[in-house]
Parts: sequence; C-alpha cells; structure tokens
Amino acid sequence: MAVETNIEALLAKDGFSCSCGKAHYAKVSRVLIDFGALNKIPELIGQYNAKKVFVFFDENTYKAAGERVLQILQTANIAYKTHCFPGERFEPDERSVGSAVMHFDPSCDMVITVGTGCLNDIGKIVANMAKKPYMIVGTAPSMDGYSSATSSMIRDGLKVSLDSKCPDIVVGDLDVLAASPMRMIQAGIGDMAAKYVSIGEWQLSRVINGEYYCGDVADMVSAALKKCADNASGIMKRDPQAVRAVMEGMVLAGIAANYAGISRPVSGMEHYISHIWDMRALEFDSPSDLHGIQCGVATLLTLKVFDYVKKIVPDKDKALAYVKRFDFNAYKAYLSENLGAGADSMIANEAKEGKYDPDKHAKRLDVILDKYDEIIAIINAMPTYDEVYATLSAAGFPLTAEELGFSKKEIHDAFVMAKDIRDKYVVSRLLWDLGLLEEAADELFPC
Ligand SMILES: [Zn+2]
Ligand SMILES: [Zn+2]
Repeated sequence: MAVETNIEALLAKDGFSCSCGKAHYAKVSRVLIDFGALNKIPELIGQYNAKKVFVFFDENTYKAAGERVLQILQTANIAYKTHCFPGERFEPDERSVGSAVMHFDPSCDMVITVGTGCLNDIGKIVANMAKKPYMIVGTAPSMDGYSSATSSMIRDGLKVSLDSKCPDIVVGDLDVLAASPMRMIQAGIGDMAAKYVSIGEWQLSRVINGEYYCGDVADMVSAALKKCADNASGIMKRDPQAVRAVMEGMVLAGIAANYAGISRPVSGMEHYISHIWDMRALEFDSPSDLHGIQCGVATLLTLKVFDYVKKIVPDKDKALAYVKRFDFNAYKAYLSENLGAGADSMIANEAKEGKYDPDKHAKRLDVILDKYDEIIAIINAMPTYDEVYATLSAAGFPLTAEELGFSKKEIHDAFVMAKDIRDKYVVSRLLWDLGLLEEAADELFPC
C-alpha cells in the first residue's frame, strides 16, 4: 500500500489505531497549503466561530503577509487587534513572551500568528495560556514547528523546549512561501534532511534498546523527505512544487511526531549538534545560523559518522576497557568548560539516565554485538554522505560547518557533546558503547 502523505487525507482519518499498537492523533485540525490560501482565512476563522481575533507579526512578516491578512480580515468584517514585535531580530525569551502577553486583548477569541520560527513559538505559548484556538499563517517553510505542540525557547538564559499548544490551523500560501528569503526555504530542506538521521537512529534504538517504533510513521516521514529531495533542484528557482514539498514536509514531520508521541521521527544527533551550537552562541556569543541550516549541515556531519561506523569491526574487550577508563568527572568539567551554565542540566540528566553506568553499558554492548548485522543493515539502508551532499548541493545549501563560521574545535566538540543533550540513543552513543568515540572524533573531525 502506498504511504499516505496527503495531509488532508491524514487529518480526515485522525485518531486511527495503528499496527504499532498506538492510536495516532495529529493534534492539528486544518492544514491549507495552496496558492491564495490567505483568502481562505475568514472561512477558517468562521469554522471556530471566532468574532474577534488577535494577530501577531513582526516588521518582516507584516510586509510578507501580515498586511494582506489584515486587509482580508477587514474586507470580511472580522474585528481584530494586533501586536507587531519591533525590530529586526528578537529572541524567544521572557521579554518577547511578556511583550506578547501584555499586548494581548483577552476579548479576542482566536490567536493568529503571521510568521514562522520563534514568532510561532511565542504565539503557541500565548494561545495556550489564553486557552484560545490558534492559527499560524506561515511566511516561510523554514522549520517543522508548524504542527508541533512545543515551543523552543530561551528561559533564564538557557535553551528549553516548553509544552505549549499545537496550532489548530496551519495556513501556507504558496505565493507567500515561495517569495520568502531563500535562506529560509533552504533551512526547511535542511530540517527535512535531518530526518534521514532521525529515522535511522530511531531504528537503531529499536534494535539496541527495544524502544517503541512505528514503521508507518517512519515511512510517512521518509516519503515526504523523498519528495523534498526529488524537488531539491527547484529550490533555487523558487519552483512552487519544490516549495510545496518543503512546506508539506515541515507540517507532516510535526504530525509524525504527534503520531509517535515522541520526537524520534524528526530529530536525532544532527539536531543535538545544532543545539550545542545554539547553547554556545548564547553563552559565548559564538556563531549561529537558522535552525534548519545548522541541522542540514549537521546532518552531513552525522552521515560522515554513519559512513565511518560501516567500517568498524567491533571489539568487546576494547569497549569494556574504554568504559572502565571513562572518567565522568573529567567529562563533566569538559562539558562545563565548553557550554557554561547550559551544561548543568545535561549533567543533571545523566544522574537520571545513567547512560555511562558500566553495568548498563555491559548489557547494551551484549545486545549490540549480538545484533550487529541488523545494526549494519539499518545503516547500509540509510543514504550516504555523498548522496545527501548532492541533494543539498542542488538546493544551493551551505555544505560545511566552516561555512557557517564554526571552528574545527567547535565541530569536533559538538560531535562529542551532542549525545548528552537528551536521553536519546544516537549514533555517537553507539560509538561510545563500542569504545570508539574519541577515535572517531579525531579521525572525522580533527582539530
Ligand atoms: Zn503506528
Ligand atoms: Zn528541526
């Protein structure tokens, strides 16, 4: 049976029970990605019986679509209040959320954000607090938060993922999306390419840790990703088919994460490398780039690691001796030195996870050695570094971390530290389990 990637068809059968044992819910109710989709906004508001809406945007997204949205509301006689976040750039932090909340008019019965990225993250928080239906009018296909129920925020100076509200309605007008800055369209294909890694690592963890896995959800993400890869050469031409593939991919990825109830289908080691760079940017003002651009580049780095794993001959004694030598206190100091205050939560996580516990390691190692053929078969089925390099290159994507301004040491250290961001089994944890983490780091990312 063909894999269903038609979003309307998926939403129509929402809440279906799957062979994986779960009932899958999308959380988002309506998704409209089409030319002229902005004109449908009054109808969509009508479906929620909203009489007055609150519209958030910033100076850029006002020009991109906000002004048109307000005209359309006016013509349709829908009352509205607005708040424009001032300035070119703002952070998704206490100040921005405070500004949004203090300008919000509680007499409004729907929240609408015109934007993407952190504007959407803030809108989701406000709609959640106000307990109002929420519509996101996307201005760029740059990230996969359009149909997710979390917001990526900075709280007390640290990057956190907060539970917020999944948009009820996602509007993606292809005229608007195709006119968005090229770097933001490319960011979308980068965040999509990341799914090559996340799906592969999800399968690895199923084999190694017996983690929950749904093949249907994985296939859905892979099919959406294939559409993006097939259309990659249209990105630079702003081909609407390519832009549609990326936007639909971004929304489907969020739906896949909702279905699975975990972020496994959409993020893995490459997201954690990007996260490390974000943490360093906050702490040390080091370089940073758009989420999807960093994730795409980190996907290439991670695929280099997978290519490396294919050549490994596992050695049980070596792995056990490595773990015996491993000095967690020295490692904690290394994390703090390279990440500052952000390292504290990672160190606290390890106290709960115990991934470096020698007994747990020994058990895991037995499984890894026992199932090594299966592990290598999963990795062999993933695309190679060269294949994804060619796809991203066709989209005019930046292809190296150096191009984004990262030093060789920042690349090397991000690879080593990425596995400590969350309790998720990623490929660098497989290397640690095999006693090869530093060897791999020095060979692949010398500094
Ligand atoms: Zn399933
Ligand atoms: Zn992402």
